[in-house]
Amino acid sequence: MKPIVCKFGGSSLADGTNILKVCEILKSDPNRKYAVVSAPGKRYSGDTKVTDLLYQCFREATEKGDCSETFAKIRKRFTSIVEELDMSGFHIAEILDETEKQIDEQRSADFTASRGEYLNARVIAAKLGWKFVDAKDIIFFDGSGALDEKRTYAEIAKHLDGCDGAVIPGFYGTGSDGKIKTFSRGGSDISGSIVARAVNAELYENWTDVSGFLTCDPRIVNSPEKIEVISFKELRELSYMGANVLHADSIFPVRKGDIPIKIKNTFRPQDPGTLILPSKQYVLQGNIVTGIAGKKDFTVIFLEKSMMNAEIGFARKVLSVLEAHKICFEHMPSGIDTLSLVIESKYLTEGVLDVLLKEIDEAVHPDYIRVLENIALVATVGHGMASNIGTSAKLFRALSEADINVRMIDQGSSELNIIVGIDNDDYEKCVRAVYHAFFGKKSK
Ligand code: ASP
Repeated sequence: MKPIVCKFGGSSLADGTNILKVCEILKSDPNRKYAVVSAPGKRYSGDTKVTDLLYQCFREATEKGDCSETFAKIRKRFTSIVEELDMSGFHIAEILDETEKQIDEQRSADFTASRGEYLNARVIAAKLGWKFVDAKDIIFFDGSGALDEKRTYAEIAKHLDGCDGAVIPGFYGTGSDGKIKTFSRGGSDISGSIVARAVNAELYENWTDVSGFLTCDPRIVNSPEKIEVISFKELRELSYMGANVLHADSIFPVRKGDIPIKIKNTFRPQDPGTLILPSKQYVLQGNIVTGIAGKKDFTVIFLEKSMMNAEIGFARKVLSVLEAHKICFEHMPSGIDTLSLVIESKYLTEGVLDVLLKEIDEAVHPDYIRVLENIALVATVGHGMASNIGTSAKLFRALSEADINVRMIDQGSSELNIIVGIDNDDYEKCVRAVYHAFFGKKSK
């Protein structure tokens, strides 16, 4: 039987009571053999995550020479976790002393930040009676900062082979200089995915404090429907457009290994959660739209030139201007004589837009250039859209009924999504209109 790799994060590990729930979940299925853990999260709103305290420790050590003031808070958190877990034989004080000393000596932000995961994994491994496997010995980065896949997968296999229960700290590994290196924030999701791929897991369970993905942002639509099954491709489209439960980079290792992910809620383990399936295993679910996501603050540069379609190299010249300024574009809808570039406004800081317009003008001499600012994009995503006649009619009817002016339309070539550009001010109204068109009672 292939193993299940579980990653626990968020407030799942915030205190001893929650850690006990995690231990129960792990012990309730013998296939759950490997646990990847984050640092203790917030216990209540307004609380500080241990990782944030550790970054504060690093700043304190750099400024004052030691981190004793902030480290005292970390000491208190872990001491009370160990007390709550009734682990009197576990020498947390010694481990904390050593960690504090190393933080003061090493003066490395990555090393310091990684200690939340390290300490938590040591405590949880001892509580479960499982092996503690340090991420520094199994996850390796190459000189460019990317994962050294070959070495990492070989070391994970070596360390976990024949092991019937291991706890691994998430978020970090070893850099090409031999020092501790972290992923970006929220990176324990990536560690879990790497371990799942390395052991060829049956499933990667990602345990958090929500019961899976929602079909749209609950701050915009009240109690939107949950997503029970979603494909990797749909997830990628939705998380790219701002829906975030998982770290965006965490899907790549498991996706390569065709391993499904399940998002589960530690506090409601009975809930089905969301199952994320590789294309090979995904079958249409009967719904047209799987989810809706979006982001505000884009700028559209609209170019028009007669006979643009016959001019060889037109798009390349325009894109070379962006490349020279190291600016990415998000979408490039085009017609026979028109081409638009959709760019996140944050890249167009003071004066940059004027320089781009001037250089584009010189490069391709368009008849007309126009700039639309304060544009929001809303993506409607679903494999079911391609095979359902009338999907786009339904979408655009909903927008027209809501009195929303559509400034741009882009349909991905896979017919997996339709993206509309609208004014920032219409963003929430647009998400609501699309949601009600596809998930509202009347639409069923
Ligand atoms: N503890 C790290 C963070 O707060 C990594 C993680 O939680 O995945 O970003």
